[in-house]
Amino acid sequence: MCLLLIGPPGAGKGTQAVRLAAHLSIPHISTGDLFREHIDQGTELGQNAHTHTRAGLLVPDEVTIGVIKERLTRPDTERGFLLDGFPRNLAQAHALDDILAYSESRVDAVLDLEIPEDQVVRRIAGRRLCRRNHEHIFHVDYSPPEVDETCDVCGGELYQREDDRERTVRKRLEVYRTETAPVVGHYQAQGLVTTISACGQVQDVLNRSLVALGYGQVDVAGTSG
Ligand code: ADP
Repeated sequence: MCLLLIGPPGAGKGTQAVRLAAHLSIPHISTGDLFREHIDQGTELGQNAHTHTRAGLLVPDEVTIGVIKERLTRPDTERGFLLDGFPRNLAQAHALDDILAYSESRVDAVLDLEIPEDQVVRRIAGRRLCRRNHEHIFHVDYSPPEVDETCDVCGGELYQREDDRERTVRKRLEVYRTETAPVVGHYQAQGLVTTISACGQVQDVLNRSLVALGYGQVDVAGTSG
């Protein structure tokens, strides 16, 4: 299954993507995480990405599409994958359609996470990531770690993303409205989009997503219902 998760920054795409991918047994591919890995490793691609991410701007398409193209050639994607943060504009959506058509595949479903902008700013201001694994995401109020500034999962140090400061968040929201929202329209025209409210508890949003995809709900212990 080729599943896309779209939504503004702070909608909880990363949080939901990790859980959904585990439930569906497909890899979670986040362009944001791939860029952060490059930035941490100080690669040339990372340096280029950093100049854009820190300003709240999109990384240029040729770089982003190249990164995704390479990632989708790895064998773990053969049975499907969940894309989080890609495509983020119409050029990327067309590139993805072409990449998939080449392997006689297509996008199967798109989940569009919706959330009011005032909630986005509150969520993002408290978000903390683990330095060792960017999939370990916390929030100082909504899902605080047991020990301050320390990841519950692996003991890594928690930090605030440079692009999570308020001014940059406002810029990212503007870019979302102008560049990414049309991507939803592109897939709506193909009847692939389900819009989900991203408000409320992580578990509630996950259940809405699973129901939208035709799966049963998951109870808090994590077994299928
Ligand atoms: P969020 O969805 O919370 O904004 P991400 O981790 O998905 O955060 O992305 C962080 C940043 O990485 C984006 O603001 C952008 O600069 C860059 N980025 C991620 N995905 C893409 C993409 N598909 N195209 C261009 N830039 C991207």
